[in-house]
Amino acid sequence: MRRVSIFGSTGSIGQNTLDLIRRRPGDFEIVALTGGRNIKQLAADAREFGAGVAVTAHEECYDDLVAALSGSGVQVAAGAGALTEAAERPADWIMSAIVGAAGLAPGLKALEQGTTLALANKESLVTAGPLLLDTARRFGATVLPVDSEHSAVFQGLIGEDIATVERVIITASGGPFRDWPVGQLARATLEQALNHPNWAMGQRITIDSASMFNKALEVIETKEFFGFTPDQIEVIVHPESLIHALVGFNDGALMAHLGPHDMRHAIGFALNWPRRMDLPVERLDLARIGGLRFEAPDEERFPALRLARDVMATGGLAGAVFNGAKEAVLDGFIAGQIGFLDMAAIVEDVLTKMSADSGHIDGAITLDNVAQTDHLARVRTREAIAAKT
Ligand code: NDP
Repeated sequence: MRRVSIFGSTGSIGQNTLDLIRRRPGDFEIVALTGGRNIKQLAADAREFGAGVAVTAHEECYDDLVAALSGSGVQVAAGAGALTEAAERPADWIMSAIVGAAGLAPGLKALEQGTTLALANKESLVTAGPLLLDTARRFGATVLPVDSEHSAVFQGLIGEDIATVERVIITASGGPFRDWPVGQLARATLEQALNHPNWAMGQRITIDSASMFNKALEVIETKEFFGFTPDQIEVIVHPESLIHALVGFNDGALMAHLGPHDMRHAIGFALNWPRRMDLPVERLDLARIGGLRFEAPDEERFPALRLARDVMATGGLAGAVFNGAKEAVLDGFIAGQIGFLDMAAIVEDVLTKMSADSGHIDGAITLDNVAQTDHLARVRTREAIAAKT
């Protein structure tokens, strides 16, 4: 039996992971499940899977979780400290699917036990890629990508010499606003941003897909995870989202990875790695699909991609600034305080100002420095939002 923990089990990735595990009774033992405010889901899953411990990130939710799990035999804990303690519990495979920078500390703790970490939480790589991968190396741990694009690149590299890779191309659906002119984008509503054409995902990543901030994070994630240089990483808009990524080699070959819009493919690949096993995902019918389209991304209407290049050029703690500011503008957009286009404008302003002061971005990439930089970026961003409202 493989021992598994799932951080962010109540979310979209967490639920898809549990779906795969549910289909293989007897194969997995659930060590820890963690969530945030969705206590009902967390308790139901902890009971169903007989988890060793259920952890809510929020201390004020502790009593509700205790009540929901009473008589179940599942241990209950709450708070950020409890999350990292749960990551210390021995497990063979740990899913990192908390949304946002909050996923970094438990992910690092998980790596320190030399486990296999399936990494959906791209923010960990964006804010602290070198720290994360160095920790994995030091403790003999393995990090596997779960983002569909990065899983696709990973699969495209199996058996290949990485020195022969010229470029990687990650695809973007273009989101619900792919064809919208700037004037209309400025008035885009939360409801419209949540209407993703292809993928069913958590609220935050869905809005990030509409603004292309998600793709910006993924470009940085590609650099950090695989070690490619920024000019080797390309983005192409591919409205069908069936090709997730392509790897280009020095003989001109371009290897594409295709799959349905179902995160259970990438999650299942990481769960079963290094083997491939049957997965309950749709098989593509190419004749029915008929054709695939490709377009160059428009960095004027979607400046997040340009900002990702700035972050990679600046290096250091610029990723923590970028992600912290991005999370804070997202809060502002969800709360109706700022417009859709204000998000990128404010992030750019905060990034430019904090990058100009080398004291903010030159520090070593440690957990403390990342947390401080993230905090400062959020404070600056909230100030900029307040100035607009
Ligand atoms: P969801 O919003 O659906 O779920 C997020 C999870 O994190 C929930 O369990 C939530 O708890 C928990 N959570 C929220 N805030 C905190 C916090 N401060 N501390 C601890 N836990 C918290 O997100 P997704 O599943 O969509 O995404 C998870 C990660 O995977 C993200 O990094 C995303 O970028 C990445 N990803 C997602 C994809 C997808 O298809 N969804 C695809 C590729 C990557 P609760 O809901 O109980 O409050």
